[in-house]
Amino acid sequence: MTATPARTRFAPSPTGRLHLGHAFSALTAWDLARTSGGECLLRIEDIDTTRSRAEYEAGIYEDLAWLGLDWPRPVLRQSERLPRYSAALDRLGVLGVTYPCSCTRAEIRAALAAPQEGAAGPTPYPGTCRGRPMSDRRPEDAIRLDLGRALENAGPGLDFTETGPLHPGTHPLDPAALRAWLGDVILGRRDIGIAYHLAVVIDDAEQEITHVVRGVDLWEATPLHRLLQALLGLPEPVWHHHRLIRDEAGKRLAKRDDARALATLRAEGATPDDIRRLVGPTLAPA
Ligand code: GLU
Repeated sequence: MTATPARTRFAPSPTGRLHLGHAFSALTAWDLARTSGGECLLRIEDIDTTRSRAEYEAGIYEDLAWLGLDWPRPVLRQSERLPRYSAALDRLGVLGVTYPCSCTRAEIRAALAAPQEGAAGPTPYPGTCRGRPMSDRRPEDAIRLDLGRALENAGPGLDFTETGPLHPGTHPLDPAALRAWLGDVILGRRDIGIAYHLAVVIDDAEQEITHVVRGVDLWEATPLHRLLQALLGLPEPVWHHHRLIRDEAGKRLAKRDDARALATLRAEGATPDDIRRLVGPTLAPA
């Protein structure tokens, strides 16, 4: 499969029970590591302390062990690393690629209302606070990435490499797509201090992840992660985005979808092999 041992990770958030979609993601990450003679790490993405629960974290360990997966201990828990993420946010501030933002959701909606009427898809932040200096930061402010400045600072020629079957190849960063999909994203959240995008690149670097295995629902975030890595001088992994497991209506599974929770299927008598059959082959094209 891969020439060098792959170090992968499975990084669930303990905000609900794991379902078939998680099982597929975990099995893909473990299979990719195992077939290359590498290893897969487990990371608990519990940075959102308002939604994470200890019982869901316990459920993650239980479900993965039942699936026959093993991982090095201790696991990395994001909630224990907030100072590390804050330091990275400060570093981006020193580079001059962030600004404080006081806009509420309602204000953003109002600013977007006219031009975006009826538009489908993402609605990036309109840039109301762009240009405010970091020295102007108030405790209640969020911190946003100034995407234009960040792209300028990182310089041209950035790309990322995808090894998954859906979008294989090397992809140049497309500033227009980044602007359209993400814009000036929040990196410092008002409520919990840090946003997923920043925590994930710091942790993947520190855990020396070579292959970032995850669902294709995060495909549009990958150029941003690559950009953050370049700004922070972090090593460059390759990515492996996998297909999503959908329900009969074609909708992607959500945490509240209890019928497909591994715990429910297990209680109904399913075996780990049944789960493998239900989700299908991990490394072959779908
Ligand atoms: N914690 C994320 C989730 O549960 C996964 C992020 C990632 O794999 O990059 O969807």
